[in-house]
Amino acid sequence: MRTPFIGGNWKMNLSLQAATEFVETINNQIPPASEVETVLAASPLFLQTMLEHNESPLQVAAENCYYEDEGAFTGEVSPKALSEMGIKYVIVGHSERRKYFHETNDLINKKVQAVFRNHMYPIICCDETMGRYENGDHISWMVNQVTAAIQQVAATDMRHAVVAYEPSWAIGTGHTAPADAAEEGCYLIRQTIADIYSDEIANQVRILYGGSVNAENIHELMKQPDIDGVLAGKASLSPQEFVQLANFN
Ligand code: PGA
Repeated sequence: MRTPFIGGNWKMNLSLQAATEFVETINNQIPPASEVETVLAASPLFLQTMLEHNESPLQVAAENCYYEDEGAFTGEVSPKALSEMGIKYVIVGHSERRKYFHETNDLINKKVQAVFRNHMYPIICCDETMGRYENGDHISWMVNQVTAAIQQVAATDMRHAVVAYEPSWAIGTGHTAPADAAEEGCYLIRQTIADIYSDEIANQVRILYGGSVNAENIHELMKQPDIDGVLAGKASLSPQEFVQLANFN
């Protein structure tokens, strides 16, 4: 009943020309949105051109935004401007934002609210470290991150949110989490949403796994009951591999 969600996150990679060629290459190879929602997040510098060249069901997304709509915030990306461009999804709280740009749970929650306020949907990323995983305190860490990120989000909005479980020990390592560990993280996120809202809302939210997903390991991951999709970094940089991810079934 939940439409699979295949997301790519280019991070700070590719050039404007490569981004344009990528979108043109994958046109006609993306499944209909009624079967799979395919979303590609890119630098704000590329978004307008990608939108102009996109003739497929692909959704072009932003990797980040600020929490104020406008004002004296030099260098920031306005969620209002993203929405006006026709952007529907924004990644919020990626582990690289938390780690390198010191984004806190409180800031991430403000961004989540800003995305909804501007009629877009957040892809909320939650991370954890290997140390936490081994100590077993990853559960309270994850519950805390999810709970903080969705504070004051109305149930009517929450059902449209996408949440990604992205263990930082799997991101960019070439070693994806075992499917059962990925399932456990996604299940935990769904239970947390159910506790805060209801089973009905939790069963509508798409939960993704991210961390070294590729065209081979996606099949095992997508068989898990609580994994509704993936967020791929490196694998999304190749048009051929991204098309394979989108056509995983
Ligand atoms: P990766 O990145 O697929 O390159 O591990 C995933 C992510 O950071 O979302």
